[in-house]
This record gives sequence, structure tokens and C-alpha cells, in this order.
Amino acid sequence: MQKEIICIVCPRGCHMNVQILDNAITVEGNACKRGREFAILEMTAPKRSLTTTVRTVYSHFPVLPVRTDTQLPKDLLLEAMKVIDDTIVDYMVKMHDVIIKDILGTGCNIIASCDLPRIPEERADI
Ligand code: SF4
Repeated sequence: MQKEIICIVCPRGCHMNVQILDNAITVEGNACKRGREFAILEMTAPKRSLTTTVRTVYSHFPVLPVRTDTQLPKDLLLEAMKVIDDTIVDYMVKMHDVIIKDILGTGCNIIASCDLPRIPEERADI
């Protein structure tokens, strides 16, 4: 099997040619060894970071930006999004607080990308 892959590890975006033959993987076109590692992972067990938002109960900040703290298996991204869509934050959080622990049993946490700002004084009755 042969595949062309663009390395997304750094902005250079090397175009790599990856070939699997008799369980041996050859990678060409990578400018550094990180590209080879990415290509092998991409061919065997691709993973991705996930950046999205979760809903909150707070009208002054209805959606909270969140992200994964490690990478998720690529084939679990849609399932992870369903879990995130079903989540509603109803408490104050700080940046990097865990919002969903060990999502789908992957060991990956969904964490806050920023502080959830306090309710403005004049709206504290919300
Ligand atoms: S192979 Fe190396 S230099 Fe090329 S895009 Fe990947 S990380 Fe960057």
C-alpha cells in the first residue's frame, strides 16, 4: 500500500510518500524524523487533537472553548463530539480545568481553554 501524506507536525507541511510492503514502512519526503514518526502513526493508528466548545448554563458566556489534553484516536472523534454535545457546564471553571475526564475511556481529558468569566455584578441574579 502506498499513500501520500502531508505532515501536520509543523508549518513546513512536508509532502511525504509512505509505502507499506511486507510489514515494512518506508517514508520519503520528510525533512526530519518527526515527520517519519507522524507518517507511521498516521498509517497505523492516526490521532488528532480536538478543539471545540461546550454549552454552559450562563447567559453571559453560553459556550466555553475546550480542547483535548492529549490526542484522541481519529476514529473516535465523532463519538467524542456526541459526548461533548451532551455536556452542559453549570459551575465556574478556570483554564485547564477538566470538563470531561477520560472521555470514552481513552485516557484523554477534555479541558477548558479559558476561564469561564464571573457573572457581571449587575447580572448576578442570573
Ligand atoms: S517532516 Fe519535519 S519539517 Fe517536515 S512538516 Fe513534518 S515536522 Fe515539519
